[in-house]
Amino acid sequence: MKLFGNKNGPAPEAPAVTENAVLNALRGVIDPDLHRDIVELGFIKDLNIHEGTVGFTVELTTPACPVKEKLKSQAHDLVAVIPGVTQVDVHMTAQVRQSMDPWSQRAPVPGVRNIVAVASGKGGVGKSTVAVNLAVALARQGARVGLMDADIYGPSIPMMMGAQDAHVMGDAEGHIMPLEAHGVKMVSIGFILGENAPVVWRGPMVGKAVTQLVRECVWGELDYLIIDLPPGTGDAQLSLAQSVPVSGGVIVTTPQDIALLDATRGLSMFREVKVPVLGIIENMSYFACPHCGEKTNIFSHGGGREAAERMKVPFLGEIPLDVDVRIGGDTGMPIVAAKPGSPQAVAFMELASKVAAAASIAAMDLHVQSEGFIPLNTLVGPRAK
Ligand code: ADP
Repeated sequence: MKLFGNKNGPAPEAPAVTENAVLNALRGVIDPDLHRDIVELGFIKDLNIHEGTVGFTVELTTPACPVKEKLKSQAHDLVAVIPGVTQVDVHMTAQVRQSMDPWSQRAPVPGVRNIVAVASGKGGVGKSTVAVNLAVALARQGARVGLMDADIYGPSIPMMMGAQDAHVMGDAEGHIMPLEAHGVKMVSIGFILGENAPVVWRGPMVGKAVTQLVRECVWGELDYLIIDLPPGTGDAQLSLAQSVPVSGGVIVTTPQDIALLDATRGLSMFREVKVPVLGIIENMSYFACPHCGEKTNIFSHGGGREAAERMKVPFLGEIPLDVDVRIGGDTGMPIVAAKPGSPQAVAFMELASKVAAAASIAAMDLHVQSEGFIPLNTLVGPRAK
C-alpha cells in the first residue's frame, strides 16, 4: 500500500483501521483486580470505526473503580498509536455484575446484584460505622446502594444516617418502602421492633425477620445492599447469613488480640455458610494527632493485616480512630458526606473501592469455579441454566 505521495502525486493514503487491530491493541489493558485483559473480560462495547476515528465504551464491573482514569488513558494511548488512527473517543461506564449463589440454595433478591454482610466478632469495634460509611462512599462513587440494619441488639444505623425519627412506610400491597438518606436506601429492624423492644429473639427468628425485611422491601435496582449484621458469630448471625443470598462478607476488627481472635471466628462463620470472605477491615487502627499529625497506635497496630495474611483473605484497609468519625455517627452525618476531602473520608472511599473490587472478583471466581471462565458481560442477570 502506498502511504506517502509526493508533491505532485496523490494525497497520502491512510491505512484502514480494522476492528481486529483495535481489539488487539486493547488486549494490552489489564484489569488490576481481575488480572485479565479488558477484551477477554468483555468490557469493550459499542466499538465503531469511521475512517481514522475510533470510538468505544469500556464497561467496568463497578463505578467505584479507583483506576478508572488510568485504564481510560491506557486504552486511549494504545489505540492512538495504531497506524491510520487520527482520533480516539473512549467512554467509561460501569455495570455491576450479579453475584451468584454457587450452591443455588438462596433465591436471589430481585433487582439486588450484590449483598455484602458486615460482621464483627464483638460489639463496639465500629461495625455499624463502617457499614454506614461504606454504603455512603459507594453511593458517592456512583453505585446504587441499599443499607439494611439487621443489628437487633442495638440498631444504630437510623441515628448514624440522620433518620432516627423516621417511620417505616408500606405501599398499597403491604411492601416496605425504604427511607433514603445520603443517597442510600435504608431500612432498619429497629423500625419494626421499636427502640426499646426487648430482644429475646433466638437465631432462627432473627434470620426469618431479616429475610422478610430484605425480601419485602421495595429496593428497586441496587448494585450493592450492605447488611449490618448483629455483633458476634453465634446462632443469629449464622442463620441470617444462611437465609439471605449474601455474595460476600467483610469482617471489622480493632487491632487488639482479643478482637482479632473474634475476627477469626467471623471468618469461620462465613466459611461455614459458604459465603466468600471479601476481606478484613481494621478500625480504630491508630490515632493521628490533629495538631502535629503524629500517629499513635492506641490499640497496637497492624494486627488486622497480619490476621488477614494468616487467614489468607484480603486486607481491605485501616480506618483511624478519629473524633470526626465519632461525631459523624452521633450527628447522622457520616464523615464521607460531612468532610469528603478529609483523610478519614478518603480512607473510607478507598475501602469502598476495595470492597467493590473484591465483590467483582468473588462474582467472577464463583463463575470460574462452576463453569470455567466466561466473559463477565454474560453474567448480568440471573444465570441461564
Ligand atoms: P459496633 O457496630 O461494632 O457496635 P459502632 O459502629 O456502633 O460499633 O461504634 C461504636 C462507637 O465507636 C460509636 O460511638 C462510634 O461513633 C465510635 N467509632 C467507631 N469507629 C470509630 C473511629 N474510627 N473513630 C472514632 N470513633 C469511632
